Amino acid sequence: MSIPLSERVAIPELSADDDGDEVVIGGWIQEVRDLGGIAFVQIREGTSTAQVVLPKKKVTEEVAEALIETNRESVVAVKGTVQESDEAPGGFEVLPDAVEVLNEAKAPLPMGVVDKVDTDVDTRIDNRFMDVRRPEVQAIFKIRAAAMEGGRRWLMEEGFTEITSPNIIGAASEGGTDVFEVTYFEDSAYLSQSPQLYKQMMMATGLDRVFEIAKYFRAERHNTRRHLNESSAFDCEVAFIDDEDDVLWVLENLVQAITRHVDEHCTEELAALDKEVHVPETPLPRVTYDEALDWTEGEIDEEVPWGEDLSTEAEYALGDIMEEKRHEYYFITKYPDASKPFYAMPDGELSRSFDLGHKGMEVTSGAQRVHDPDLLEQRIKETGLDTSDFEDYLKPFHYGMPPHGGFGLGLERIVMEMLELPNIREAVLFPRDRSRLRP
Ligand code: ATP
Ligand code: MG
Repeated sequence: MSIPLSERVAIPELSADDDGDEVVIGGWIQEVRDLGGIAFVQIREGTSTAQVVLPKKKVTEEVAEALIETNRESVVAVKGTVQESDEAPGGFEVLPDAVEVLNEAKAPLPMGVVDKVDTDVDTRIDNRFMDVRRPEVQAIFKIRAAAMEGGRRWLMEEGFTEITSPNIIGAASEGGTDVFEVTYFEDSAYLSQSPQLYKQMMMATGLDRVFEIAKYFRAERHNTRRHLNESSAFDCEVAFIDDEDDVLWVLENLVQAITRHVDEHCTEELAALDKEVHVPETPLPRVTYDEALDWTEGEIDEEVPWGEDLSTEAEYALGDIMEEKRHEYYFITKYPDASKPFYAMPDGELSRSFDLGHKGMEVTSGAQRVHDPDLLEQRIKETGLDTSDFEDYLKPFHYGMPPHGGFGLGLERIVMEMLELPNIREAVLFPRDRSRLRP
């Protein structure tokens, strides 16, 4: 007779208070300790475990063998009675009267789950299904989900509408070389580098505040610890703004909401990672681009010529300076126009653009956008792009486009920064990079 899995009780919900109850549990065989007359088996569900006790005189040979002889990491269902036990982890154990092996794991395992040996990152990603069984890895993906939930909730409360824009597009949204070309029936198409042009088009619709948890596909050739070829981002756009300050307000409060949600809802996961999340106070400090150059001069080997984007070296030097001032998160504002894309609103030599930094890592870029169609067209041409590729994008600007602005907040970047992960690949289940398309 098979054990009814629908009656399965969640292991994290069991305790000594259930003493005497008949229960069904299910999970992975994590560890077997056979002492002869008695054996102890740890069954894992998620990141929790329950101890199944096998006093050889009290359980049938069949039940004992099913747990002791089955390979580690096999999936089993156990039906038995909860007993209070001072020695058992969690204060209780289960005395089984039936065991069913639902799926036997092959041996040897492709990687360890509970062993303390370090497995290299490639083996871990090749065997992600197994890697995520490890509490400290599972914690990252629960925290990532909480970050998405916290951000989404806050945006909804603030009246944002969630949109979904196409990922297959006819013209490269940001131009440039970092684009993936795909075959689209008889034509070629591109994977979207961001929903930039689409969320801007929405500003002409009356949906004044939109966001998307978007996918970015970028054929960036370099392999770094902070770049993926497929990444995710909170992409927001807001209409009827006075200037970029209104966008900074949204961003700083979104970051606060994300970090607060993780802090409040992920106590166990943070403990598994031995991390604390710092919820920043708002408003976040603003550092201008000119100040950033000034302050980092002398701290870096290669100076940044005015007009160019900050180098990675300068970004980290600024991160250190801000950390000394007790600021983990900060805005860099008033970038030179030359360093920013065509859709960013110029302000003389400067741009109404900003970045959000965290300890030297760029987490967000954003700006007030150009909403005047003539200026926009002129800037597209100056960038060397073909305006005919932007016809669909430009059209709404001729039929009632309010002033607007927005940003893209990298999801993997903020998770990586929040948890001090050494590499962005730790913040995504199945990373896509220069050398990896599988699994
Ligand atoms: P970087 O200078 O770090 O390469 P970027 O300025 O090219 O980033 P933006 O176009 O400003 O990137 O994208 C907005 C945000 O999206 C970035 O601040 C970052 O958080 C995230 N992001 C962009 N590209 C990537 C990538 N290849 N991998 C992971 N996250 C990314
Ligand atoms: Mg940027």
